[in-house]
Amino acid sequence: MSELPLVPATNTDPDNVAVARFLAATTAEGPGERTAVWVQGCTIRCQGCFNPHLWAFRGGAMTPVEALAARVLAANTTGVTFLGGEPFDQAAALAKAAAAVQAAGRSVMTFTGYTTGQLHEAEAAGRSDVAALLAATDLLVAGPYVAGKVDTARPWAGSTNQEFVLLSDRFPHLLDDLTTTPDRVEVTVGADGRVAVNGWAELDALDTLLAGLGQRRRGESEPCTT
Ligand code: SF4
Repeated sequence: MSELPLVPATNTDPDNVAVARFLAATTAEGPGERTAVWVQGCTIRCQGCFNPHLWAFRGGAMTPVEALAARVLAANTTGVTFLGGEPFDQAAALAKAAAAVQAAGRSVMTFTGYTTGQLHEAEAAGRSDVAALLAATDLLVAGPYVAGKVDTARPWAGSTNQEFVLLSDRFPHLLDDLTTTPDRVEVTVGADGRVAVNGWAELDALDTLLAGLGQRRRGESEPCTT
C-alpha cells in the first residue's frame, strides 16, 4: 500500500466547475490550437507554484458543466486543456464537461499535480469521479511541479518529474516528437493595457520578455501546469 494520500474530493459538486480563467484559443497549452480552462482550487501546493492565487477554493465562477462544454465547443479549437488549480480536486464535474468535448470529436488534455500512482490508487479505492476524468482524457500530464527539476526539453510541462501519459490513440506520435515540439509562451496585451501571459517560462526569461511592457501578470503563467 502506498503511503501517498488519496486524491481529496474537495469540490464534490458534480454539476458545476469552479472556473478561474477561460482562454478561448491558445497554442501554448498543449498540441495544436486549444481552448484552455484554469480551475479554481488546489490542495497540492507545490513549492514554487506560479499560481498560488488558484489554491483557494473560494472564488472562480461556478459554471454548469453544460455551459462550460458549450463554451469550449463554440471556440472551435481542436480541443480543451484543463489546468489550474487542480482538475482532479473537482473531477466529477470536469469529467462530464470533458466527456461532452470528446463526444463532439475534440480532444481533452488534463494537467494534474497528482502522480499517476495516486490517481490509480484513488480509482482502486472506488473513486468513480477520478476514473471518469481519466476515461474522458486523451493526454494526461501528471505529477507535482518540482522547482529544482525545471524541464527545458519538453513543451508544456514545468518539471522533469512530470509524466506524459497517452490515455487514448488521439495523439499517436506525441511522445516520439515531444523533445522536438516547440514550447511557446503567449503574451496578450488587452485593450485596457493589462498583460496576460500563458505557457511556461522561467521567471528570468519572463522578466526579459516583459521588460518594457510596463506590467506583469505573473499569476497567469503556468508551470505545472495543472
Ligand atoms: S503547480 Fe499545479 S498542482 Fe502544484 S500547487 Fe500549483 S496549481 Fe497546484
